[in-house]
Amino acid sequence: MKRNAGLVIAIDGVVGSGKTSTAREVARVLGYRHLDTGAMYRAATLAARQAGVAAAETAALADLLSRIRITLLPQHQGGAVLLDGRDVSHRIRSPEITRAVGAYADLPLVRRALIAQQQRLGAEGGVVAEGRDIASVVFPDADLKIRMVADLRARALRRFRELTEKGVSISLEDVVTDIRQRDAEDAARDYGTCAPPTDVIELDTTGMTLNGQVEHIVSLARQRGA
Ligand code: C5P
Repeated sequence: MKRNAGLVIAIDGVVGSGKTSTAREVARVLGYRHLDTGAMYRAATLAARQAGVAAAETAALADLLSRIRITLLPQHQGGAVLLDGRDVSHRIRSPEITRAVGAYADLPLVRRALIAQQQRLGAEGGVVAEGRDIASVVFPDADLKIRMVADLRARALRRFRELTEKGVSISLEDVVTDIRQRDAEDAARDYGTCAPPTDVIELDTTGMTLNGQVEHIVSLARQRGA
């Protein structure tokens, strides 16, 4: 589909497949916007927790969602995630938010609000959009759809290195258990999809470096006119 600002590239993938770093870097190379939908669900969850609104309080939650403003700054402006103008990029990745986000992200009212915002942001093209439902629900007519997969062990090792570099003390076995649990949760989750997305290219990143993944996706995007 011809769009004013470039292609819509949809990237989905299992936990720890490297989709966020890859999507961010592909966006930077192509000069596109990185639309990290997970960050939006995380920011909405942070807003709800700060306001003391539980996932079960749907009326209060709907009211809160109509008042908050989630902004994803473009990469050339630093790429931060803002909640009502404040930088929450780090806070939304805390273990507390990671644990809480699923309960909010499961609610149709939350999904409707955020998907509408995501579709507005991608309407002109020039985006690398990332998330579980991106190719099936948010942008079913995306120009390039990638699904990133990798062996459990490889994903766990990447996550383990990331965490230990940040000074978090955790065993590799605990990371494996955590990823297994999130895989099971993801598999059980209903993203409002009637049918699996079509034309998806599966990319197994088990033996690949970040640069290799980025180059591969950028070259596919160039073949499609990026
Ligand atoms: O990708 P990330 O781990 O940041 O996503 C955080 C959580 O947000 C996911 O575990 C999932 O519960 C939710 N999510 C979602 N739909 C998306 C992106 C994320 O429900 N498109």
